[in-house]
Amino acid sequence: MSRLDSFIRRVTAQRDCLNAAAVLVRDLPGPVLEFGLGNGRTYDHLRSLLPDRQIFVFERQVAAHPDCIPPDECLLLGDLHETLDGAGAVIGAPAVLAHVDIGSGDPAANAELAAFLAPRLHKLMSTGGIVVSDQDLGIAEWEPVALPSGVRQGRYFMRRV
Ligand code: SAM
Repeated sequence: MSRLDSFIRRVTAQRDCLNAAAVLVRDLPGPVLEFGLGNGRTYDHLRSLLPDRQIFVFERQVAAHPDCIPPDECLLLGDLHETLDGAGAVIGAPAVLAHVDIGSGDPAANAELAAFLAPRLHKLMSTGGIVVSDQDLGIAEWEPVALPSGVRQGRYFMRRV
């Protein structure tokens, strides 16, 4: 598979999982969390899927398309190691959906970040909320959710808290 094919499959999986997650949380109240703004593609997609929800975004350094920059009150700017522990007070309510897309090309760094993030994210989530992620966050209590058809196991992850 070419790198282009791989990229297309990854973003298709992202989109399909976010679409499925938005349906699953339709009747649950609560804000949405986006970990990793990047250029704002998935943030923009979440906004279009859930226009009435607040979306809180965690990002080290904003470099997104100008149309895809969250309002200041919803941006937790800085490294997750600095922003995550105080995030509950900013967000103000248990989150119903989280999308975690913070992986890099460094598997060891990804594993370290996931191990730091997962238990803290667990505390920010509502029971029954959905976590969509680019890597397995390894929380045993979270129940696997069936992936949309066409998304192969291991390409993207969906869990119910
Ligand atoms: N979902 C985005 C999109 O659709 O455009 C792409 C996100 S990109 C793959 C990963 C982002 O996570 C980068 O913008 C990076 O700055 C951010 N990130 C990675 N590690 C982080 C950390 N420890 N704290 C805060 N942000 C981090």
